[in-house]
Amino acid sequence: MNKVDYLRISLIDKCNFRCQYCMPNDAELSYILKQELLTKNELLTLLKQVFIPLDFTKFRLTGGEPLLRQDITEIITEIVTLPETKDLSLTTNGYLLEEKAESLFLAGLKRINISLDSLNANTFDRIIGNNGKSRWQKTWHGILKAYEVGFNPLKLNVVIIPDINHHEILDLAELTINKNWHVRFIEFMPIGNSQLFGEKAWIPSVEIKEKIKHKWGLQEANITGNGPAEVFKIPDSQGTLGFISQMSECFCDRCNRIRLSADGWLRPCLLNETGQINLKQALREGINTAEIREKVAQLLLIKPDINFKERDSGIETYHRTMSQIGG
Ligand code: SAM
Ligand code: SF4
Repeated sequence: MNKVDYLRISLIDKCNFRCQYCMPNDAELSYILKQELLTKNELLTLLKQVFIPLDFTKFRLTGGEPLLRQDITEIITEIVTLPETKDLSLTTNGYLLEEKAESLFLAGLKRINISLDSLNANTFDRIIGNNGKSRWQKTWHGILKAYEVGFNPLKLNVVIIPDINHHEILDLAELTINKNWHVRFIEFMPIGNSQLFGEKAWIPSVEIKEKIKHKWGLQEANITGNGPAEVFKIPDSQGTLGFISQMSECFCDRCNRIRLSADGWLRPCLLNETGQINLKQALREGINTAEIREKVAQLLLIKPDINFKERDSGIETYHRTMSQIGG
């Protein structure tokens, strides 16, 4: 059985973007009330008394948009100073990085993933559901700022959507040639906005890989991280290319992660709601942390069955979007 030692923590379900593939239309989405969010202290109690004693050592902060959390730098400092923390990273849409990258770095965060689906401002704005001023330039400056302050590795997450940004595969891959940037192509998943899922809603990694290989060639490579990405590089380039193929390949048997939502639900599998438990509720009801730890230990024991059960039954419906689960 694969060791599960990586916790993805959603800090907030709200977001300043509305990416078409992540969030449904306004009318369908309701946000978690502020008082229902796990507080910084509740989160730290869970890390210190539940997850770390169960050998969790790697953490990722995500959302929604985690930089909307006012206490983000304090959360980072508290987690990196826990002696057991081996790795802390954060996934962001980059919009607020221009002003926040430096304080995040000084707080102790050293690696970061930034989502960037297009190098074209119009396409970018279309994907993120912008109906006001363009957000591309500020996001791009946020990426440059993160690079300048020294985040390493700096990964760029890309979701390719047919007929929207598929013609930018080579341009996005090319970013890795002259900069130590790591572009990761994530297969688009049927979570979130179901209207997008026509017959050809996603492009398999193998097609993206072939396209890049045909232009420049590809060689195997390595990069720090906890993900299931297959990593390559364009010969003589500074950065790498990762392919995350959760739609076309099953890597459940290698899964080392579990997810905590912003309102405290612990979810054993991204693609399956079976077995979830609410740790915030347990804390607020005064259940002692030894008992909570025991419940989590039981959930970890049944996790492999949950992963495979969902795969066997195919991908079905989800009650929560990626922004709510924590991508
Ligand atoms: N707001 C931050 C961001 O966009 O990076 C963090 C949260 S977001 C949910 C985390 C990652 O999930 C992003 O890289 C996003 O592209 C990815 N994501 C969201 N919905 C997805 C979907 N339906 N299929 C594949 N990836 C998705
Ligand atoms: Fe927001 Fe990230 Fe979802 Fe886009 S992918 S709507 S930035 S949470």
